[in-house]
Amino acid sequence: MSVSRNLLEKYARLIVRTGANVQKGQVVQLAVSVEQHDFAAMVMEECYLCGAKKVNIDWLSDAQKRLNFRYADQEVLSAVLPWEEAKMKQMTEDLPCRIFIASDDPDALSGIDPEKISAVSRSRGTVMKPYRNAIEGKHQWVIAAYPSEKWARKCFPDAEDAVDRLWEAILRTVRVDGENDPVQAWKAHTDFIESKAAWLNAQHFASLRYRSANGTDFTVSLIPEARWEGAGAVNTVNNAFYIPNMPTEEIFTSPIAGKCEGTLVAVKPLSWNSQLIEDFAITFRDGRAVSCRAGKGQALLEKMIRMDDGAAMLGEVALVPKESPVNQCGFLFYETLFDENACCHCALGMGFKEVLPGGDDMTMEEAQKHGINDSIIHVDFMVGADDLAIDGIRADGTCVPVFRNGTWA
Ligand code: ZN
Repeated sequence: MSVSRNLLEKYARLIVRTGANVQKGQVVQLAVSVEQHDFAAMVMEECYLCGAKKVNIDWLSDAQKRLNFRYADQEVLSAVLPWEEAKMKQMTEDLPCRIFIASDDPDALSGIDPEKISAVSRSRGTVMKPYRNAIEGKHQWVIAAYPSEKWARKCFPDAEDAVDRLWEAILRTVRVDGENDPVQAWKAHTDFIESKAAWLNAQHFASLRYRSANGTDFTVSLIPEARWEGAGAVNTVNNAFYIPNMPTEEIFTSPIAGKCEGTLVAVKPLSWNSQLIEDFAITFRDGRAVSCRAGKGQALLEKMIRMDDGAAMLGEVALVPKESPVNQCGFLFYETLFDENACCHCALGMGFKEVLPGGDDMTMEEAQKHGINDSIIHVDFMVGADDLAIDGIRADGTCVPVFRNGTWA
């Protein structure tokens, strides 16, 4: 192991205490790769030290995922077995605090028929969705990362010290280093994000207009009562404040599904279902993606947009200044957790009902009436060009600069 035990312990503590904010008496559901069993034990112990009642681990494996896709039939993989459903149902009762440690090989499924991958994720997603909706907003969760060998080699193909370099980048983005107290650093960081979100909420913009020399020219309408959120969230059952993503740099909201016009040009490749879509742009008419072009992965992009009725509409717009430490790292992580925190982005597919007042207690159908999009996908793509300008436009037509040259105006 290339990282000192001291730093690893700081990191585990940060994930459990600042990220998940595990509460006394809570059940914790930890999802982590079999390769990271030592770190899993560290995280698990930290949860117990926080007073967790029970820590359950879901062991993940890239090899298992790949071999299943290669050899098992699509119908078999698509089926959600009764015990899997029972487990989700149990979760809606226990409302466990969930911790995900991401370390996937971005190429785990390369060579597998994309048709098969999307069909499986569509069928499974459809069955699991009501359960996911039922626990949304009612429990704490956090996704953090741990560099696997294969992931690191994907990011730094020619480096001998690929894992060390990915560690260095990850720890930089989550503000863990030898000297500073990461808990304090996160307090300052979340305070900054919350001040920007408060400013946006006070502006009451009806729409946002995006422009860049790369061809982006796009206007999206916002839901009047929806809030801009960022950094953290509050579990509505026990009021625990948690930080779902580590790192996080974004301030986001859900726009009105079906109300946007124009073209968004992506500034970074998109890794979807373990495959890359590069040099792409999406054009919207009447709120729906009507055409797209991609230098690489055109068919995959078209498939993504047609996954279901909501897949062609936006579920998220997010603001991230180009000074983000993720962007400063200067490489593609092949992992949304990082890549979406590099710069401004939008997401096709499911929106967030929790941005509505009382949204946590709404059904998805109710949230849709307010304009929130519904879909089995939620795919972020980066539009934060270095020259990106965003204007906020109020209902009376006044126009306020929000972003200039890729950062806060
Ligand atoms: Zn986002």
